[in-house]
Parts: sequence; C-alpha cells; structure tokens
Amino acid sequence: MKQQSDLKYHNRMKVYRQICDCGPISRAQLAKLTGLSATSMTRMIAGLTELGMVRESAQRSLSSDAHGMGRPSVMLETCADKAYSLNVDLEASCLRAALMDLAHHFVVYRELSIAPKGDSFSDVALKIQAVFLEMLQQARIAKEEIKCCGLTLGAHVDVAGERIIASSQFRWYEEDAAKELGELLQMPVIVENDCKAALYGERFLLAAKEEPLNHLAYLELGTDGVGGAVIVDGRLLRGSRNAAGEIGHITVLPEGEICNCGRRGCFETVLTEKFILKRAQAINAGCQTIDDVMDAMRREDARIVPLMEELGDYIAIAINDISCAYNPEMVILNGPVIQKNATSLSYVRRHLANRLMKSVQPHLIVDVARMGANASLYGIGCLATEKIIAGLLRG
Ligand SMILES: [Zn+2]
Repeated sequence: MKQQSDLKYHNRMKVYRQICDCGPISRAQLAKLTGLSATSMTRMIAGLTELGMVRESAQRSLSSDAHGMGRPSVMLETCADKAYSLNVDLEASCLRAALMDLAHHFVVYRELSIAPKGDSFSDVALKIQAVFLEMLQQARIAKEEIKCCGLTLGAHVDVAGERIIASSQFRWYEEDAAKELGELLQMPVIVENDCKAALYGERFLLAAKEEPLNHLAYLELGTDGVGGAVIVDGRLLRGSRNAAGEIGHITVLPEGEICNCGRRGCFETVLTEKFILKRAQAINAGCQTIDDVMDAMRREDARIVPLMEELGDYIAIAINDISCAYNPEMVILNGPVIQKNATSLSYVRRHLANRLMKSVQPHLIVDVARMGANASLYGIGCLATEKIIAGLLRG
C-alpha cells in the first residue's frame, strides 16, 4: 500500500512540476513530457484539480489536434493562490518578512529596522507574530491559508531545521526555534541558515532561466559576518553537523584580528563591512559609513583604492579555496559591499586571474546574487513552498 501511495505522490509531483515549469500546458503536451499515458494523465489531473492545485487556464492552445482539426486544447495551470507561506529573514539590524504564494511571488513584503540584536529569541518571536498579523490584514488572506513559516538567520542550525544551535550574531544558543515560533503562530516552522537558504533560492532562479546548475557556491560578505553555502551534485551540502560551507571561518591570517568566533584571522576579519570600515577609517577619517567607503572607491580615492585591491584579493583567495574544495561551476557573491558598487566585482576579477588554478579558470563563473538583499528571504520562501507542496500533494 505504501509503495502504491509513494508512486502516486511521485507521479503527482512530476506532473505538478511540469505544469509549474511549462504551464499553461495541454494534457497532450504533459503526457508527452512526463511519459505518462493519456489515461494516467487524466486521472492525475483529476486528482490535482480536486486538491485545488491545478485549474484550467483562460488561455487556449493556438494549435488544435494533430490533423489541424477540431477545437483548441484546454490548457492547465497551477493555482498559485492555493496556499501561502510566511517567511522571515533576521539580520543584525533589520527584519524582513514576506507572504509568498506557491508560484514564489511575494504577495506582501515588510522590512523593519527593529534591531533584533540583543533581544531574546522569545522577544523576536513576538515581533514576528505582530508583523504576521499586520501582513495578513493587508493581504486580506485568511490565517488558515498560511501553511508554513520559514525562518532564516545567520546561525548554525540543526539538520532537521528545527533548532538554532548557535548564532554568535544574536547570541542565541540551543534555541528550540521551530517549536517556540510554531506554537505562537500555530503552524509548522522550518529554520535554515541564511546562506544555505539564499543559495537554494538563487539556484531556483537560475534553473528557471537555463539548465539547472548542480555545483554552486555562495559567499556573502555581510555587515557583521561572512557566510557561505555549497550545492554539490544538486544538493545543499550539510556535513555531519550541518556546518559545511562556513567559508567565513577559514583562517587566512593566522596572526590576524580576533573574529566573532573567538579565533584569529578568519576570512570574516578581512571581509565584513565592519572590518572594512574600521580599516578605511584608519586611512581616511572622512569614511564614516560603508557608503562613504563606496563613494571614495568610485572617486578612485588614492587612500582607499589599495584597500579595495586588498579586499578584491582576499575575495579571490576565498573563491580559490571554495573552488579547490568543491569545484563549483559558479560562485555567487552577495552582501552590501558587492551590491552597492559594481566596481567591487572588477577588483575581484582582476585578482582571480592570479589566484585561481589555471585549469579551473575558464570553467568558473563568478556572479552577483540575483535577489540581492532579499536572497535569503526568497530562498527560505522557496524551501517553505516545497514543504507546503509536498504536504498538499500527499493529500
Ligand atoms: Zn571566525
């Protein structure tokens, strides 16, 4: 019985995915693409329609039947408004939240500068609940339609996506985050590291436009931390304790400054906004904020340019380390320093020519995150949507 229900679920998922990717699409096209018989397809579509996951589109196919006769085919599309997820990205200085539909669109988006740093997890959970209720009102969506909450933050999270093991950024340790927030919101909650979430979302966007990339890496130069994530053979690499890909804590200067993790000379001590600003201020007192540093770089300030060259070199070294360890097809960079000034990338590219192994160089793409500051929020939304769809398809 279990095997039979697993097969049914598998086939439903296959058909649903195909409609997501290619819809509006006819039954005949679907049968051709999935390899399922016309009879099976009719049964599948009836089941998906009954679940409220698929509906007939107002659009009709332009071509008619194989002989050019008859009526245009009925086209099918997925019901993006069947269910929604609540998604939250916590950063040191702000909280981003969005309700997402099943087609990965943000229906309502909020960005609050409530500085969760210093608050307990329980305090932040109450803030999330308040934002959630406001967003529901704005979207005019019933609470019952929100089936899952995704929470992402800079933290070491357990493999099950339930507990925050440690977040030095928020000083939270061993928090039962999914349980506590789930009880408050009365829905299932998944918790994911911000970089892993961001990479998952970026891969999803890339796959929608071209062939899916199965070997990807992500490097985020944040305000207060440097994070990373890796996809190998199409799957997020987690390691024994879900800490794989923590590129920010690879030692680059053994006698360097003290890192947030308590050790010396991690990449984090040379690549975060905080450390970059500290060094910039030491050579140019006019640089009060990271925006001032970016402006100075744009003006090619003779004091700041060498610092940016050094920064570009460290990023190139980090990319080479990632490349040696995981051999990705693409490394995606993100963070304010990268997003705020396009010339940052030109510094990186210049140094990559010297730092990358020659045999790897022509095959490695270095790019900037498509979702920018919303990369983690979008990614956790994609993960929450996956969970909702799997639950709905099981019926
Ligand atoms: Zn460290």
